[in-house]
Amino acid sequence: MSENDKLKKRAAEILKRLEKEYPAAKCHLEFRNPFELLVSTILSAQCTDARVNMIMTPLYENKYKSPDDILADGLENFRENIKSCNFFNNKAKSVLAICNILKKDYNGKVPDSLEELTKLPGIGRKSANVILGNCFGKKDVIIVDTHFKRVTGRLGLTDNDEPEKIEADLKKLIPPAKQYVFSHVIGDHGRYVCGARKPKCGVCVLNDVCPSDSLKK
Ligand code: SF4
Repeated sequence: MSENDKLKKRAAEILKRLEKEYPAAKCHLEFRNPFELLVSTILSAQCTDARVNMIMTPLYENKYKSPDDILADGLENFRENIKSCNFFNNKAKSVLAICNILKKDYNGKVPDSLEELTKLPGIGRKSANVILGNCFGKKDVIIVDTHFKRVTGRLGLTDNDEPEKIEADLKKLIPPAKQYVFSHVIGDHGRYVCGARKPKCGVCVLNDVCPSDSLKK
């Protein structure tokens, strides 16, 4: 068996165990439509999903149902409403800029392709893949966030540091139909077990297939 085949086999085993461990794994941002997830994704940079949910859920419910609503409210008011979010000033400007583009170029709708989404200011591949997977039913998306990067590195599924290369490495190992699910179960494993500072290797279901021996001592 080639090295790549062995790696694929290990990745399949990891996925099988994590799907069992986190059967309800999903996006931790609350949203009801692509517009809400797009805005919340921008606000979630260097801020917890829980805080973004706390700020935005009532606003989506009562105030901001479309790009037009945010544009009509204006930058000052929007900024005031999200000011308990880190970097609220720049994020407010980004959201307003995106709302303008959605209104002008997309009839107020969020586009459903990687190419179009990544043309929006502040939307990189990670955010675009979050939206494609969660709102448009795309299964062949690998979402490289901080948890995914850390956990796949520790599991020896990638040697790379750059998100695009990590994404490409994992696309080779995980079947397209499972890439979205894999992203979420790895994310949950990073949140609950394989934490940044103190991974709980002793209780980890991947302990025997994880090469990060140094972390287990
Ligand atoms: S064994 Fe430790 S380092 Fe490896 S995946 Fe589990 S918690 Fe993370």
